[in-house]
Order: sequence, then C-alpha cells, then structure tokens
Amino acid sequence: MANTSGSESRKLLSGLQAVMADAAAGQERLDRITRLIADSMGTEVCSVYLLRDADTLELCATQGLAPESVHVTRMRLGEGLVGRVALRAQPINSANAPDEKGFRYMPETGEEAYSSFLGVPIQRLGERLGVLVVQSKDARAYSEDEVYGLEVVAMVLAEMTELGAFVGEGAALSARHTSQVMIRGTCGQEGAAMGHVWLHEPRVVVTKPVAEDPEAERTRLTEAIAQLRTDIDQMLSRASTGDKEQHEVLEAYRMFAQSRGWMRRMEEDIARGLSAEAAVEKEQSSARARMETVPDAYLRERLHDLDDLSNRLLRLLTGQGKDTGAELPRDPVLVARNIGPAELLDYGRKLRGVVLEEGSVGSHAAIVARALAIPLVIHTGRITTEALNGDPILVDGDQGIVHLRPEDTVASAFRDKMAMQAEAQERYASIREKPAETRDGTVIGLHMNAGLMADLPSLPSSGAEGVGLFRTELQFLTRARVPRRGELAGLYARVMDAAQGKRVVFRTLDIGSDKVLPYMKPQDEPNPALGWRAIRVGLDKPGVMRMQLQALIRAAGGRPLSVMFPFIAQFDEFTEARDHLMREIDREAALGHVLPERLEVGAMLETPSLAFAPRQFFELADFISIGGNDLKQFFFAADRENERVRRRYDTLNVSYLTFLEQIVHRCGDSDTALSFCGEDAGRPVEAVCFAAMGLRTLSMRPASIGPVKSLLRRVDLREARAVITEARGSGGQSVRGAMMDWLKRQG
Ligand code: PEP
Ligand code: MG
Repeated sequence: MANTSGSESRKLLSGLQAVMADAAAGQERLDRITRLIADSMGTEVCSVYLLRDADTLELCATQGLAPESVHVTRMRLGEGLVGRVALRAQPINSANAPDEKGFRYMPETGEEAYSSFLGVPIQRLGERLGVLVVQSKDARAYSEDEVYGLEVVAMVLAEMTELGAFVGEGAALSARHTSQVMIRGTCGQEGAAMGHVWLHEPRVVVTKPVAEDPEAERTRLTEAIAQLRTDIDQMLSRASTGDKEQHEVLEAYRMFAQSRGWMRRMEEDIARGLSAEAAVEKEQSSARARMETVPDAYLRERLHDLDDLSNRLLRLLTGQGKDTGAELPRDPVLVARNIGPAELLDYGRKLRGVVLEEGSVGSHAAIVARALAIPLVIHTGRITTEALNGDPILVDGDQGIVHLRPEDTVASAFRDKMAMQAEAQERYASIREKPAETRDGTVIGLHMNAGLMADLPSLPSSGAEGVGLFRTELQFLTRARVPRRGELAGLYARVMDAAQGKRVVFRTLDIGSDKVLPYMKPQDEPNPALGWRAIRVGLDKPGVMRMQLQALIRAAGGRPLSVMFPFIAQFDEFTEARDHLMREIDREAALGHVLPERLEVGAMLETPSLAFAPRQFFELADFISIGGNDLKQFFFAADRENERVRRRYDTLNVSYLTFLEQIVHRCGDSDTALSFCGEDAGRPVEAVCFAAMGLRTLSMRPASIGPVKSLLRRVDLREARAVITEARGSGGQSVRGAMMDWLKRQG
C-alpha cells in the first residue's frame, strides 16, 4: 500500500473482513490481521496493542517483533511512542523513532532493528481501545496517504473489537461490555439506587464496517445526507421563531450538513473500503477525540452539534431508530450524555436514578432530579459508550459513584447500604409529626425548598412546616418562552392550594449566572456569577418582575402572600424592589382584584455587604433568608460551581460561623425573622452548628428534613455552643473536628 490507492486499501479491508467471517479464536484473527497489514503496507512489522485496563496497553499481536513479547510487553498511557499515540489519540509518524522525544526501548521485542514508526489510535467514538503500529528497518517517513490508510484500517479494527471479534484469554482480550466498571463522577443528588440501564439515546451498532462497492456506498451516503438536510429544513420551519437557541442549533446542523469538508472526508473513507455508516462513525470518532482537547466552550458546543448530526445520519443509514424495541426495565436508571429538564420531567418518577456524562450541579436537569428526589451522578466520563441497555447498575448519589455490571460482593454491600437507608427513612417517618426540638427545649423550624409542582407532594410527607424557598425561575427555565401572567398565576395558585395554608415563600425570578433562560439574549460577561443577575436584572428591566408580582398577587386571591427578593446587595435595591411590589398592589386594587390578606416582604442575604446594611434595612425587611450557596462563594471568593475550589473552604470554618452569628445578632436587634435556605442547611452537622449560632429556621430539600430533625432532637444546643466556642478559641480553622468528636460521644 506504499502508493496507496483506493483499490489497494479496499483489498486490505476485504482481507480483514474475510478474517472476521472465519470462525476463529480472537488471538488467531489478530495474528492473521497483523500479517495482512504488514504485507499490504510493505513493512517488516505490524503490531496491535490493546488496553488491558484504563491506563495499560498490552502488545496483543505482532508480525515482525519477537513473538515471546506478545502479552508480555506492556506500557502505560503516555509511555513511549505507543503510549503517546493512545493518550493523545493522534498518529505519530517518524522516520527515526529512537531519536523521537519520549521513545522507550522495549528490549524483549527486538524492535531496535527498526527505524521508522507509524502508530495510529484504535478508537471508537472517542473511546480509546488501543494502538496500531507499523515499523520498518529503513528510515522512511510514511506518506500522508499511508497514514490515512492506516487510520481507516484502525477504524475497522475498532469496530471489530466492539463486535467481539478478538475475544480471547487475558484482560486485554476480554469481551467488551461484560466486566464490572466503577465510574467516579460528581454527586448531583444524594441517595442510592439499584436498577438496570436505560440509554436515553441507544447507540447505533455498525455491523458492517467494510463494503465492497464504493459506488453503492457513496449513493447511500448522498441519499442519507439529502434526507438529513430535508429533515433539518423541516425542523427549522417548525421551530418557533421566538426560540433563538433552538434556531441557532438547527442552523449549525444545517451548516454541517452542507459542509463540503465533512462530505469529502467521508467519501474518501468510502473510497478506501469503508461502508457509509463506518465512514460517518470514523469522522464522528475523530470529532469526539477533538472535543476532549478543545478548550473553547463555543467550539466544543459546535463539535457536539456535529456529534448529534452524525447520530442522526447513522440512524438514517442503518435504519436503527431511537426506538429499538427494547422495553423500559422495571427499575430504569437513565444513562445519557446530557438531558434537558423537560425530557427528564417526561420520564418523571419512573426513574430509579440518573447518570449523566456531562451536566453540572446547578444545571436544570440536576434541579429537576432533585425535585423528583432521584439520585443523580454527573460527570461520569464515557458511560454512554460503556453501558448497554439492560446492564445492571448501582448509583451512589452520596459518593458520586456508579457501578456498572457490579460483581456480587459490590452489589450485596450496596444492598446493605440501601437497607440501612430505608431503615433510617422509617425512623424519620416516626418523628414526622414531632417538632425539631433540641434536648434543651429549643424548637427549630424546618421548611423545604421547592421549585416545581412536582415538589409539592413532599410537603406533608417530609414533615416540613412550609416552603421556605420556592425558586420561581424553574418555570422560566423549563419553557421555550416567557410564561404568561395567567399561566403563572394559575401555577402559583396551585402551589398555594397544595400547601394547604402552610407558608410558601416565593422568591422572584433569580436568573443570570449559571441560570440562563433559553430565550434571553446571552450576556457576554467576564464573570457571570458577579454579573447582571437576579434582582439586578429585575430592577433594570422590571417588566417580567412586575408581571410576576401581579401573578403572585392574583394567585393569592386574598390568602397571605410571602415574597422574597433574591441577591440584594444593598439597601436601596430592596426598597426599589419593594416599591415595585407596592405599586403592583395598588394597581391590582385599582383593577378590583382581591388583595392578599397579609403581605410579607423579605430579602435574600447572599452577599456579605448586606450583613452590614443600615439598621433601617433590617427594620424594613419583614424577614431575611440567608442564601448560603451564594453567600459562601462570595465570603471565601470561591466559585460554587468549581469543584476544585468549592471544597477547599469548610462551611464550619470559624470565620464563616462567626459571620453567620453576626447576621443573627443584627436580625435580633431589629426583631427581623431570619432563616437559612442554602444547601448547607440540609446537612445535619451543619444544621446543628447553625442552630447553635442562633438560627431558628432552616429550609432545605425535603429529603433532608428527616435526617436533620433526627439529629437536632438528639443534641443539647448549649453544649454544642460550648464545643464551638472552645474550638473557636483554640485558633483552629474549622470546628468540624471538635463537633464530630462531640457528636460521636452523643451516640
Ligand atoms: C443560595 O444561594 O443559597 C440559594 C438558595 O439560591 P440559589 O441556590 O438558587 O442561588
Ligand atoms: Mg442564590
């Protein structure tokens, strides 16, 4: 294949296919394939290295190197030239390999005789499987054409690996998708779930990577692309004109579908012997590999678009629809690259767990999963390429860990953990009607955070006294356009009905930062968390906030109403927002609507500045709620979405607790009701410390109420306070250690 022509390449590929068709063991197939490739390329050596675990490559077959080194020679990812090809997912082509930086000599292989080296990655949809190498004695540099030819061969090897053609003895030749895999991700929602995989987007299986008739394949590809373009045009004409983001995505699809470069590469792949679907998948694989290395978020998004488009094209070519005929398992755990909040709501409570390759703790899908109380693990690497529909799976939302196809010992330990959690839930149910009264007789009010209608059934079952934070932005985030006043009024009224007279604190629209509305013009801000968000948007462009306030007043229909403004950083923001509300009250009165029987107007304290606001602010506010998620990020200047810095600062840090205590005092001086509604309130140890600092109302996700109440009922706050005072006096950074020791002693 030195002067590679399409026909030469096709001959090699049909040779590979013939090997595949023969009933032979995996090892024998690999041996025959390395011979075929070496012959065709005119090289002395051809070797196949496959991954035996996530970071070790093993020489699995060779023509030309010492046979005794097969299954003996191993290297780590990044080690030597072979390791570097695998790590970077890029070819290395060198006329004089021993002179290359990073070259590592493997004496047992006898490779010192060979000067030139060409290695290409064997990868499938961006997943590393191994490396294909050719070497020769003369110091020749392989032509671009030869590199390309070897990449096509590697693509076929990847497909053959996926189809199980090389299964044999030893870890490197073990069957794919059969062994246990443990994936460490990030916790999105606590809880444990056990079930079977349900792939949101089932993978297309390419069973025929090689094709004999390039003309026929080209026609298939051209027809499928024409169909794809028609589909996209139809989607564009159906898409609502107001949905800018959807339009942008579809326009990007259209651009790719018209892209000459994309088409040309796939035609070239076909000319070399790949089937149309294998050509699409080859380009998709390289796009996925590029995705990992592109730092620019916008470009990465575009590569995602290309990935989605390739999936559509594969479905058209193979006739494999999203509906594979598989039945949703009884205990489905949804596995997806990512999922939108609306789609997740469609699945609803049927799901036992959700596992996402992407997503973020603050993402809308995470918020919905939390509302549905479904354990969620995010950032799970390549789970969608590893998992098969129906695979057993364990989701540990507390630790952010997923066990795919777990071994019996892991599954039984997990079952024990779930049983213990169920037992604890029963214990919590038994104290549901009891107050969160500490041993010294202090009663702490426990409320729940909510944001969806779906949350409301938890109100009676969790034992919450009310809704301490209703995040109204969720209705805006899950829609394609600004909801209308009537719609919102209806929804808020249903929320109040479901609360059956219990207090519901409605927080006005809190958008910006990570909460970007699909229909809002994206703001190009250098630092969105410190940018135009929450009340800043509400005051600068008051139209939506006023409409929301009208909806709330109408929804109350004479019932008491609690309104809270988010992210107030200084006094005048509160007075301005409050004035808007008062004007709407007057306006509604003038229109003859019934006014709320009682009106409470509060502010969220989420920036340290507000703690130092004038006394008049504390007197004017009916209540204040500490938004600990934001307050903590600004107190420590540590991004709440950035795992690396977020965990660096403990909530029980002495300075932070002292600061919270100051807020308690300021509210105490003016007799202003104070609560804490950030996620930390739902952590039992933190909740005890907050109570010891003087907080008397905490609002948290419904599932936390039981554990928090259970611990509060077991402690004496005076003692807890003494432990904190002593720990603070010792000059330590956090009181956690002392608290944990003391709690252990409580039994
Ligand atoms: C907070 O910041 O603590 C809070 C409750 O608001 P959110 O998490 O919605 O920003
Ligand atoms: Mg906040």
